[in-house]
Amino acid sequence: MPIYEFRCEICGEIFERILKVDEPWPPCPRCGEERVMKLPSIFGFTDAASFRSEREQAILKRARDYLVDGKVGEAKRFLEKAKQYVKTERVSRLADALQQRKPVKGGYVSRTELVVTKKKD
Ligand SMILES: [Zn+2]
Repeated sequence: MPIYEFRCEICGEIFERILKVDEPWPPCPRCGEERVMKLPSIFGFTDAASFRSEREQAILKRARDYLVDGKVGEAKRFLEKAKQYVKTERVSRLADALQQRKPVKGGYVSRTELVVTKKKD
């Protein structure tokens, strides 16, 4: 069920409610006013996808950072843990790829997801 954010048109109070799609909008919890405005919520259904993809990006970035530093073991452990929390295809694919592939000279290559080479000093 989506969480919506509302703003009271009278006192400006911003509040959240979990609502069914056909449920009437709630009155303001502060002043009781019924004229409220629905705001684009960061928790709504549509935006849940972008929230998830932000977490995914953060995970992939951190994994890359480990790999760039040559910390393959840590990248593996991190991804194994991360894929339990953020179950996206890219995260689990990268985790699987790291389990199967061996480090190569100068970095780590994963054909399915990324090519990492160690930074030159
Ligand atoms: Zn109000």
